[in-house]
Amino acid sequence: MSLAFECSCGATKWQVAQPETGTHLVCYCADCQTFPRHLGADILTGCGGTDLFQVAPAQVTFTRGEDNLRLLKLSPKGLSRWYTGCCNTPVANTLASAKLPFVSLMTAAHKGEAKALGPVRAHVNTVYARGPGKPARDSGLRRVMWDFARRLLAERLSGRWQQTPFFAPPDWAPVAEPEILTPQERNRARP
Ligand SMILES: [Zn+2]
Ligand SMILES: [Zn+2]
Repeated sequence: MSLAFECSCGATKWQVAQPETGTHLVCYCADCQTFPRHLGADILTGCGGTDLFQVAPAQVTFTRGEDNLRLLKLSPKGLSRWYTGCCNTPVANTLASAKLPFVSLMTAAHKGEAKALGPVRAHVNTVYARGPGKPARDSGLRRVMWDFARRLLAERLSGRWQQTPFFAPPDWAPVAEPEILTPQERNRARP
């Protein structure tokens, strides 16, 4: 079984294998809100959350429009935030190096039944959540950290970290040139 994802214009499609090993969570941090706001993408939950699905990069395969991948950083040392250049659909966050194999996919682009993502296991950075129905406190962070560490170690030890659509050999540079927001651009898009 795999999950199907698609950008809003349909030019870019990607799949996630073995979704049963993924971690489903919602992050409310200001940076996760700034990213789609800068793109003009309407993906946030009513409380300012970004619904995320974390897996190993080797589980992600682009089946169409892989060349549309674009890379944005909110600051020089920020997370690598990927989106599609065709229609500004947020795709995923990764760390800056392929050798730290981690991908956090935005589920707004998921096509199919929401239950295929499994239950939400964690709500993190809820101090930035807003509006009625927002979670009162963080939950599940330990689960997220454990899954992150377990996955990273397994991918490194197996060599599977080299299977990634976001970085390319021989030097494992990102497949798109990072665009780094100026402080002014970042402030303009902040929640
Ligand atoms: Zn598109
Ligand atoms: Zn976040």
